[in-house]
Amino acid sequence: MRTRVKKEAITIALTGNPNSGKTTIFNNLTGTRQHVGNWPGVTVEKKMGTVFHNGHRLQVVDLPGTYSLTAYSIEEIVARRFLVDSKPDVVVDIVDASNLERNLYLATQLIEMGVKLILALNMADVAEARGHEIDAESLGTLLGVPVVFTIGTKNQGMKELLDKVLEVVEDRDTVSRHIHISYGHELEKEIKKIQDVIWRDPSVGERFSTRWLAVKLLENDSAVQERVRSFGEIGKQTLAQAEASRERLGEFYKDDAEMVLTDQRYGFIGGALKEVLKVSAKSKLDLSRQVDLFLTNRILGFPVFIFFIWAMFQLTFTVGAYPMEWIDAGVSWLGAVVSALLPAGLLQDLLVDGIIAGVGSVIIFLPNILILFFCIAVFEDTGYLARAAFIMDRVMHVIGLHGKSFIPLLMGFGCNAPAIMATRTLESERDRLLSILINPLISCSARLPVYILLAGTFFGASAGNVIFSIYALGIALAITMGKLFSVTLFRGDIAPFVMELPPYRAPTLRSLLIHMWDRSQIFLRKMSGVILVGSILVWVLSSFPRSPYLPRGQAVERGTTSATQERLLTLAESQQPVSPLMSEDNLKNLDLNNEMTRLEGSFLGRLGHLVQPIFAPLGFDWRTSVAVLTGFVAKEIVVSTLGVLYAAGADVNEESEALRRSLRASGMTPLGAYTLMAFVLIYIPCLATVAVIRRETNSWKWTGFSIGYSLVLAWMVSFLIYQGGRIIGLG
Ligand code: GDP
Ligand code: MG
Repeated sequence: MRTRVKKEAITIALTGNPNSGKTTIFNNLTGTRQHVGNWPGVTVEKKMGTVFHNGHRLQVVDLPGTYSLTAYSIEEIVARRFLVDSKPDVVVDIVDASNLERNLYLATQLIEMGVKLILALNMADVAEARGHEIDAESLGTLLGVPVVFTIGTKNQGMKELLDKVLEVVEDRDTVSRHIHISYGHELEKEIKKIQDVIWRDPSVGERFSTRWLAVKLLENDSAVQERVRSFGEIGKQTLAQAEASRERLGEFYKDDAEMVLTDQRYGFIGGALKEVLKVSAKSKLDLSRQVDLFLTNRILGFPVFIFFIWAMFQLTFTVGAYPMEWIDAGVSWLGAVVSALLPAGLLQDLLVDGIIAGVGSVIIFLPNILILFFCIAVFEDTGYLARAAFIMDRVMHVIGLHGKSFIPLLMGFGCNAPAIMATRTLESERDRLLSILINPLISCSARLPVYILLAGTFFGASAGNVIFSIYALGIALAITMGKLFSVTLFRGDIAPFVMELPPYRAPTLRSLLIHMWDRSQIFLRKMSGVILVGSILVWVLSSFPRSPYLPRGQAVERGTTSATQERLLTLAESQQPVSPLMSEDNLKNLDLNNEMTRLEGSFLGRLGHLVQPIFAPLGFDWRTSVAVLTGFVAKEIVVSTLGVLYAAGADVNEESEALRRSLRASGMTPLGAYTLMAFVLIYIPCLATVAVIRRETNSWKWTGFSIGYSLVLAWMVSFLIYQGGRIIGLG
């Protein structure tokens, strides 16, 4: 055995179709030694990890899952760019062994690129259960690629895989050889012509696989054309030759060259499989197929789907409510402890009312998010999600989206932040952006307290219908904007994609938890940063300038963050020593009056007065304007801000009768309340959502657009409601 240890790490790139088990194997290999980032310039996640094997340090890169290596989707472009430019030492193509024909298509392209390749026939267990008998040795010989069986979920075959990697890197294996996929006489003739032109400049010919370039040019691949153009004079000649060849082939086959190439590749795969794959005749009555017929049934499919979704939300919100309470209690406890430990003053305020309360108000959503993502992982890993997309496909086409985009929209009713993260399951960048842009219009659960307060106060018995109409308004706007964006901003680039139906699989708990954690982690890590900064900002705005006329050390001038008014007032109530001269009620009123005056003089209050003219046509006074501003951090805050500003009393929540009375007394009308609800529905949901949009679009431009359009839309719709209502005599 050779013990030569390479100085730099060996780079292994994992490729494979989506759902072939890439991530599972990546996790098996690298364990916790992982690093997650983004590929430069795009939102596709880049996962890297390290594994040590026989004294070698191996760097594993999880490339995006793709079916092919054309330049259709961003994933394909990313994967290909890495293979061509970074030249990994070896590429491991993870293949679903139970679905060889389709999975080997990618392999043919990798072979063509001339990379050092290993095939991992994953899901070997599934293949066996289906009665597929694969002659791996012959397959390897035919393709000129070493083949290893693996079972990702059982951590089997990993050592063999790594052994093989080292063999291939060190040129010790006997199977590897470079084969050509033969495309038949006519195509080969044209490929040769193009190659000859490229070779006129040997410096280019030596850097790239000319056969691969030629084939890609015949496929009319824009990214390769671009690159060839950069070769200068030779590039121009090459492109001219490619154009001529395509034309000739088009005439000959009466079809596009890329179609012919695809057919030939499948022909090649079909031929290979004939020799190496045996499917036993007793391939039992296919249970998966029976289940499928039921779940995607034209009539039954839809209600069954709705039931699953309903069950998911039930689970998310009922089960999630318990840990939510615990966390809430924990956050309050922490706030109380810190208050007790630190002397009253700025630092205590900042910690308790700014940081603990602000970040705490986001962390309490973690249980819901974990549960929601767990359910989605179950749907995804069992293969059901693909069916759901199928069922909704026709409906979604109305707004220019594929069925798959339905899932993130649906999740938006829970919380827009993870819903927007879920757009990652969409293959096309266009669909992803479009879904991200309309997602905030789906009314999340954080907005419900605002509706409950306002509708309950002003609409009495018909509050339920009013709230329902707000939800409906959100859906109608999402559809309208989706349609509008798809005919304006995203015209003409609807990338067709195969909606594949993966076989049903029983997922392992481990893979479910990994998938759940993968997503939730992002939520925690990224959100805490933004929320932290946002909370501090609101705290600063509402705490400064300090009022000169309020004696320090009084309970009322402790916390001033509107988010924590509720707790503050309760605390004030319990901690304030009751003066014998004042009834408890009077004291509370005095405190609140002080607090109101102080808040009106704070930067936040001044800001409210400053922006009020903008909101005047919608019937908002300065207090409502402030609530709308603080609601930017999180919609729940609208309720507590209104509570403080309308001086309702200590008990500020959507049930509070006192707050209701003062709201009614303040001159707000049912029409004004409805207008406010509509505004709260439409403008950007919260800071967390903004952060997620920024992360998922990887662009400040789209983030700005999303904020801007929702504000403008919110204003316009509210204006129409308010002024229209007044014209017909409602307000
Ligand atoms: P990726 O999309 O390629 O990253 O695929 P994942 O690693 O997410 O795997 C998709 C699903 O297949 C998960 O539910 C895995 O638990 C499951 N899976 C992965 N490898 C195997 C395997 O060898 N056998 C079986 N039965 N399931 C597997
Ligand atoms: Mg994956």
